Amino acid sequence: MLMSALKPLGELENATEFAARHIGPYEDDERHMLSVIGAASRRALIEAIVPRTIARTKPMSLPAPVTEAQALAEMKALAQKNQVLKSFIGQGYHGTHTPGVILRNILENPAWYTAYTPYQAEISQGRMEALVNFQTMVCELTGMAMANASMLDEATAAAEAMTLAKRSVKAKSDTIIVAGDCHPQTIEVLQTRAAPLGLKVLVGVAPQLMQEHDYFAVIAQYPSTSGLIHDLKPFVEQAHAKGAAFIVAADLLALTLLVPPGEFGADIVVGTTQRFGVPMGAGGPHAAYMACRDEWKRSMPGRLVGVSIDSHGQPAYRLALQTREQHIRREKATSNICTAQVLLAVIASMYAVYHGPAGLKRIAQRVASYTAILSQGLQQLGRQVITPAAFDTITIATGADTDTVLAKALAAGANLRRLSPTHLSVALDETTTRADVNALWSWFAKDGQALPEWAAFEKGVDSLIPEGLRRTSAYLTHPVFNTHHSETQMLRYIRSLSDKDLALDRTMIPLGSCTMKLNATSEMIPITWPEFAHMHPFAPREQLAGYWAMNDQLCAWLSQATGYAGVSLQPNAGSQGEYAGLLVIKAWHESRGEGHRNICLIPESAHGTNPASAQMVGMTVVVTKCDAMGNVDIDDLKAKCEQHSANLAAVMITYPSTHGVFEVRVKELCALVHQHGGRVYVDGANMNALVGVAAPGEFGGDVSHLNLHKTFCIPHGGGGPGVGPVAVVEDLVPFLPAHRTAGVGGAHSVGAVSAAPLGNAAVLPISWMYCRMMGAEGLRDATEVAILSANYIAARLAGHFPVLYSGGDAGLKGGGVAHECILDIRPLAKTSGVGAEDVAKRLIDYGFHAPTLSFPVAGTLMIEPTESEPLAELDRFCDAMIAIREEIAKVESGAWPQDDNPLKNAPHTAASLLKSEWAHPYTREEAAYPVASLRKQKYWAPVGRVDNVWGDRNLSCSCPPLSDYA
Ligand SMILES: *Cc1c(COP(=O)(O)O)cnc(C)c1O
Repeated sequence: MLMSALKPLGELENATEFAARHIGPYEDDERHMLSVIGAASRRALIEAIVPRTIARTKPMSLPAPVTEAQALAEMKALAQKNQVLKSFIGQGYHGTHTPGVILRNILENPAWYTAYTPYQAEISQGRMEALVNFQTMVCELTGMAMANASMLDEATAAAEAMTLAKRSVKAKSDTIIVAGDCHPQTIEVLQTRAAPLGLKVLVGVAPQLMQEHDYFAVIAQYPSTSGLIHDLKPFVEQAHAKGAAFIVAADLLALTLLVPPGEFGADIVVGTTQRFGVPMGAGGPHAAYMACRDEWKRSMPGRLVGVSIDSHGQPAYRLALQTREQHIRREKATSNICTAQVLLAVIASMYAVYHGPAGLKRIAQRVASYTAILSQGLQQLGRQVITPAAFDTITIATGADTDTVLAKALAAGANLRRLSPTHLSVALDETTTRADVNALWSWFAKDGQALPEWAAFEKGVDSLIPEGLRRTSAYLTHPVFNTHHSETQMLRYIRSLSDKDLALDRTMIPLGSCTMKLNATSEMIPITWPEFAHMHPFAPREQLAGYWAMNDQLCAWLSQATGYAGVSLQPNAGSQGEYAGLLVIKAWHESRGEGHRNICLIPESAHGTNPASAQMVGMTVVVTKCDAMGNVDIDDLKAKCEQHSANLAAVMITYPSTHGVFEVRVKELCALVHQHGGRVYVDGANMNALVGVAAPGEFGGDVSHLNLHKTFCIPHGGGGPGVGPVAVVEDLVPFLPAHRTAGVGGAHSVGAVSAAPLGNAAVLPISWMYCRMMGAEGLRDATEVAILSANYIAARLAGHFPVLYSGGDAGLKGGGVAHECILDIRPLAKTSGVGAEDVAKRLIDYGFHAPTLSFPVAGTLMIEPTESEPLAELDRFCDAMIAIREEIAKVESGAWPQDDNPLKNAPHTAASLLKSEWAHPYTREEAAYPVASLRKQKYWAPVGRVDNVWGDRNLSCSCPPLSDYA
């Protein structure tokens, strides 16, 4: 019968199609990989590697997977629960037009969004140029000497400024004065962050508080949250006379017209660059910025891109001051910021490049003009405007009328800001039109009142910016801001930068601990939908219904994945999740009258953010040892638990460990900590080895953070955005982050840890889509294939390099690693002088991004292939590593000298090879085409090896002079 020729419907509908696309190796490949490893089946492999004591007892309960098309349809239905109203709310979030050329060629372009943090300078020159543009833009608009390459949001940037000031000034006080007209979310985060450090936050009328109290710093908003522009200069001088710092939270668009804080002596300037082309996205992601005086640059938090030179003496960019990066500072660290907001910083900088100083000024002047006209018109209508000095925001005393006006606006599809029961404020922006101003007038007009005539305003109006505060100094004079103003030119500039870089669209990025897996296109599509992109974070809650529904679903799924009872998506990076999680533990101890518990035990192998976060919640870090196998040394841990029993607050472990080991005794370890009254923090950055297989909430963890930008597919963006949800067991749920400003409660909550209640809300659809399309089985398969792929690499390379910490089954070739494998290069340094860095740089010549270099063990490479890499790419990588091992053998044998060989001279630029003279003992072909496949496809590093030391000695973080500018 004909009908019997058709397959069962379930197979034809193929709801699991996405999982098969997400996972790189095919079924046949898997059989081959298992045979190379020497495992009978995937199941047998996993059972040999993941300790049976921690294996999940029951599978995750997630909705059955759907196809890409169906998931997008469901996502659309959620999106449509959001109501996108015209926003006049302001409060740090403004409407903006993302130029199409930037939207499509950066935000929607994997060459930009799948790049990693630029630790490997030679393959990151493009994005670092964009970041230097960002730093230059911030320096010039704020009038400051130094700026970093982005902060997480304005509120946390203000908190980081507070601690930077505290450690930099002479004043001995522990009090910071916060002007009451700062944005409320900034005040809220300052309060959260000050408390555990014993700093006192005084909020109120700053000039008065400055008379009455001692203080180490003052922070003021410029223009203030009500829109009023204050002349801050006299107060800066007053603060300086007391040896205190003055911090300004400033709006960059306003600074194109206002005297910049650097010109009136500010010590630190922070703010957001959101309105430079980055949609509001219900609060994030956006790049915040921090700028400071030159003397403080070496204690500034975050990453700084600097200019140095390469091995040919040419200018080249690299991350500056790496030795002070958090992974080196560890328990002496002062900030935990790691993943920042690089993609958004790139977008904001490109917005400035595209518009140039004249274009930015025109936008700002248009906003300022509409604001002045709006204000004048409202006064004609008999309204009392209480912000005579303003840029884009005005506040109106509406008295008993407040709710009526709000309701009229709402009925017409707009949100105003209710500043108080008797005041409304209105913020205009780049997107404001005459029609908007007319509409605003009509909502404030009394019945029957005629609206103002535009004719009176055609010739321009008086600025509301006070004469003495008008900017006269030039900005953005560098050619990069004055060249790329046609779309063709801009398109090619963007393309020329991305061509210099290696991202996931060209090669695997086998970075251990970073999980650089597929960021599927259908996961990315929803993030630019207007229903998500154009939401204001403080719009009325019911308008954000789609976001909250997505939040609830994603939190439930992440609970399933981790085995925890409650999740908060507010932290906007892993480091912030750690911070929030430790605050939760601290608050729990305090709630039991055990606030004295302040010892945090952290194994020496931990990621640097762990001790840094512990430091920031006021805990004392005690480092515990690891044994020769890379496991936590239980005896040492036990001794330290006993020693500190009365004061033990927490232990932070990473599971599987940063050494890539599933420690067999983890349950025992958790029980031990609990016996001594402490709580167990499990760093969840390595969840890609656990999802569906084991759950920290089941094996004894109390708190974890996840990195949605590692395990759950949010792209790394060249160093952000990230999302670092914090997940906790039942009794800790009441302490999870809240957000007063947004009306998100929790009587026992630790408070707000981000500026917005859902943190980087706009990228949450990515992880939602991933879970929705993978389903429980797909997610477990992903974990298992990630482990399989790491073991395949370990098996293929084991005969060529020593594999460290293969804690698994000795019967497996490669020894049995978790989801990453560490190759030890140190023995080769002795025999050949070749170090791990040389291997990393030589991989560039082979067209690869290097694995993680010298973390967690110096002199090693840590490889994490993830489940997404196809077998062919795993083999290309292994072939490259084996070829490199043969090159090292030539150095060992003396065929090539130790100081002149393809490894030491890597990476080779085209310019260095296409020269008439060639004095090296190897051929140009050996340099450029060590394996045949490179002849078909070759990535050329744009610069030779970058000299880090030179750049740190001659620290510069602005665009290089014209003469160097190619
Ligand atoms: C990446 C990572 C972190 C920090 O996460 P960010 O999102 O970069 O702040 C913490 N711990 C481990 C083990 C990590 O790999």
